[in-house]
Amino acid sequence: MDEIISYDPRTGAEVGRVAATPPEAVHEAAARARKAFVDWADQSHSARAGHLKELKRVLVANADRIAETVAAETGKHPDDALITEVAVAGAITDYLRRRAGHLLQPDRRSALPFLGAKAWVEYHPRGVAGVIAPWNYPFSLPFGPTLNALAAGCTVVLKPSEVTPLSGALVGELIEEAGFPAGVVQVCQGAAETGAAVVEAADVVSFTGSPGVARKVAAKAAEDLTPVIMELGGKDAMLVLDDADLTRAARAAVWGGLVNAGQTCISVERVYVVDGVYDRFLGELRNALRPVNAGSGDNADIGPIIHGPQLDVVQRHVDDAVARGATVLAGGARKGGPGRFFEPTLLVDVDHTMEVMKEETFGPVLAVMRVPDEETAVELANDSKYGLHGSVWTGDAGRGRRVASAMDTGTVAINNCLVNYGMSDLPFGGIGESGYGSNNGPEGLRAFCYPKAVSQARLKLSRELWWYPRPGGRRLWKLFTRAATRR
Ligand code: NAD
Repeated sequence: MDEIISYDPRTGAEVGRVAATPPEAVHEAAARARKAFVDWADQSHSARAGHLKELKRVLVANADRIAETVAAETGKHPDDALITEVAVAGAITDYLRRRAGHLLQPDRRSALPFLGAKAWVEYHPRGVAGVIAPWNYPFSLPFGPTLNALAAGCTVVLKPSEVTPLSGALVGELIEEAGFPAGVVQVCQGAAETGAAVVEAADVVSFTGSPGVARKVAAKAAEDLTPVIMELGGKDAMLVLDDADLTRAARAAVWGGLVNAGQTCISVERVYVVDGVYDRFLGELRNALRPVNAGSGDNADIGPIIHGPQLDVVQRHVDDAVARGATVLAGGARKGGPGRFFEPTLLVDVDHTMEVMKEETFGPVLAVMRVPDEETAVELANDSKYGLHGSVWTGDAGRGRRVASAMDTGTVAINNCLVNYGMSDLPFGGIGESGYGSNNGPEGLRAFCYPKAVSQARLKLSRELWWYPRPGGRRLWKLFTRAATRR
């Protein structure tokens, strides 16, 4: 593959093309990043914060260009791109500018039980970070880990998705325009082969994508024992309890399930509604869903399926559900005409034998299941190999906290959904097949560092009690060991 061509999913027209980076060129790029690392790691946090400040200015100045590029490659409306790509990237930049220096300060720790010592943890950048990104948010998802790595003092080899290379390339271009030192970010374009070379060349990898590819990345990284942060798919559950504000919950389900045409790792995919409010909730949901339409232009709410093969997955899940007894209350199929648009879809009479309740659909499909009570809702929500995000809807704050705590997910919201990703101080990540490690927050920043534990003797004694030869001989040593054991 010499060139990667980007296509507009609304029309199939070519948007642009970029040169592919062969594996040997990835290693050369990593060598340049490694050279740049020497000075970049040495810069003070306030010097790096200065670069982040300028980057924010460049982001704002280029906001429309970013949004138009993302819109051309993904079909999402440029206004949506402004929020979910540019504003999200801006918030991450602000957070790191304000907080990174503080979060990476040495951390005082207890030296106990060693009374004559003090101890602390220093955070040192790991070196060259490999960032591998997907196509669903093709600017903000490569941007986030890249910025966290830079703020931590790492340099970066970034591989955007081959489906959306132009949006990913912009991350590198804007960082260059903001005057970061040459070489700190190297963008390598390509598919699996290029990605595998990034994993080989990096000292730490941030991978965002599917569990299937994650296994290959983990296996490759294991060859060099390279640490990996894994941000993978989800099958997020929404739990609607009998005391919930049903209008709010229904509107949230429609937005949370359909925004970005359902192609969000934390999309609402499964909705469990307790029996007592099921019929009323379904009525609210149908009302909220009715005006939502897929298409392009200012009158459309949701855009197309970005990546061709994903359309088959979405249709397969709907067809499998129907074959096993589900009822389609809205949508259910690809829209006629040009472009890869899928109708906003509502499925009921679903159960856990169906793919739509087990596998990530990643399309504009809401599957709603009636459950007898709260306990069953929690049990079914947790009956998943994924564990990324979830939400609980209730009028009782204590109940909300209890149910949220019982959900097996890396992130959860009470009476809201999807918003956690926008809260830059929160770690974002999953469990099970949703991955491990975190993006964002203190945890996401420190993931690009290794913690160096340092201790220092405080007392100027000529010896410690346990050194050879032991002072006081065997008898005193015996007393000391007994006392230390019983402390
Ligand atoms: P994907 O796994 O197919 O590809 C992800 C990236 O990996 C791409 O850049 C691809 O080129 C690269 N790649 C492919 N083979 C590789 C290999 N052998 N070695 C190294 N890199 C390789 O995922 P996708 O289809 O681009 O994205 C959709 C998936 O991403 C969904 O599962 C979605 O839920 C997930 N996602 C997760 C998050 C999160 O933060 N948890 C966010 C967005 C998307």
